[in-house]
Amino acid sequence: MSRFKQVSSIFFVLGFCSCLALTGLIRYASGWSERRMEHREATVAESDAEFYKNGTCPTCRLISTKHWKVGRLKDNNDLHLESARRLGITPFETNADFEAQISGLLRRRKLKKVEDDSHYRVQNLTHSYPYLVPEAIDLMEEIGKRFQTKLKSLGIDPHYLLVSSVLRTMESQYGLGKRNANATKNMSAHLYGTTIDITYKEFLPMHETHAPEGFCRHDMLRHPLAEVLTELSSEGRCRVVQEVRQACYHITVNR
Ligand SMILES: [Zn+2]
Ligand SMILES: [Zn+2]
Repeated sequence: MSRFKQVSSIFFVLGFCSCLALTGLIRYASGWSERRMEHREATVAESDAEFYKNGTCPTCRLISTKHWKVGRLKDNNDLHLESARRLGITPFETNADFEAQISGLLRRRKLKKVEDDSHYRVQNLTHSYPYLVPEAIDLMEEIGKRFQTKLKSLGIDPHYLLVSSVLRTMESQYGLGKRNANATKNMSAHLYGTTIDITYKEFLPMHETHAPEGFCRHDMLRHPLAEVLTELSSEGRCRVVQEVRQACYHITVNR
């Protein structure tokens, strides 16, 4: 090859490479400014709370890329009732019965109050009372602890679990009068103080401000929660069913 040809091919290669590098750089720069715009449109800040438009939340994106070891979580009602009857209280017929007996049951430590704590927020309960047998309170504590540990190991901000239903009376479950018709056939484990519902459609960030309409409510956090429930269920510590209609996990303590 002549010297001229050698030099010109070196220039050709150099030119080609710098063209490629320049194109890449321009693309990256324009992508970056687009991403910044997207971020600004996707979030609103309210005091120290930051919200992401549905589908753009980095926390939920991270969770959806992981493999979660989740079981079927379909324990049938008979299994829940078996544990509930063994570990729970005798169901209250009416709300008045509950009001009359609750202070005695608390004094004798048969029931404990479910309160907001470092893992949970109790939602506004309209058909149930926030009381459980002590074993079920311990189970809640264990679920909360393991859930937070999982989030921490992924670098995800801590979130509260939301309790949507706890102890019901025959009256609050079936209504007065109707209670005998349903009573024996389809009893709910909620009557025994052994059972809670934890919602999976929303998880509350620790700043305690609920996301407005159209912004992410972190429903992807259902996966780490389901993994915790799978673990505890395989350890024989609880019965779990995923309630699709109420969007909650219905959990009964077991031993
Ligand atoms: Zn989210
Ligand atoms: Zn339930």
